Amino acid sequence: MQYKHQYIDGTGADLPVGKVVCVGRNYADHAAELNNPVPTTPMLFMKPAPALVPLDEPFEVPMDYGTVHFETEMAVLIGQRLKNANKHEIEDAIVGVGVALDLTLRDLQTKLKERGHPWEKAKAFDGSCPVSAFVEPEAAGDLQDQQIRLTVNGEVRQNGNSSHMLNKVYPLIAYMSHYFTLEPGDVVLTGTPAGVGSVVPGDKLRVELSELISVETQAV
Ligand code: ZN
Repeated sequence: MQYKHQYIDGTGADLPVGKVVCVGRNYADHAAELNNPVPTTPMLFMKPAPALVPLDEPFEVPMDYGTVHFETEMAVLIGQRLKNANKHEIEDAIVGVGVALDLTLRDLQTKLKERGHPWEKAKAFDGSCPVSAFVEPEAAGDLQDQQIRLTVNGEVRQNGNSSHMLNKVYPLIAYMSHYFTLEPGDVVLTGTPAGVGSVVPGDKLRVELSELISVETQAV
């Protein structure tokens, strides 16, 4: 099914589907689990619009390129253009808060990194960003106190709090907007806490953001 931004009450967000701007290693415990140093400035990458698929429908896991990892992340929906944005502009521009999977072809990414090649094939492939419906930011409350939880086949695999982000949401989006103009309908992913691991077809997942969002879905 064609992806469209939606709110959890079922109303459409009336925004185009844009790009996804992401940050790597935004939680120290996740950087450590992959033996990566914590970067001194935010490490940015992007996924194009065809990466977005609805999280509440079965999502495809490509099995032709080695291990596929889940990374569970708080997602922010952008409603206004942001370029060199300040805190006030960012606050005004956030129109939704959701939760997403940053699917990663981990074996391919490792090979690409070893060769000094870009990551796109491992991170930005079609369907690489299943995302939930959004809640209004007013309903979400403090973005730096959100619990990000993933349960796979009944076992809690990720359970981190956004208070542990190295780059908090507003400074992160400000930094992103220096390099990439954020446009209405773009999504920002804010990084994954520790616990990333492989996902295979047949896995049943529950993806949660605090008490706000709980999505049951399946890898196919
Ligand atoms: Zn990620």
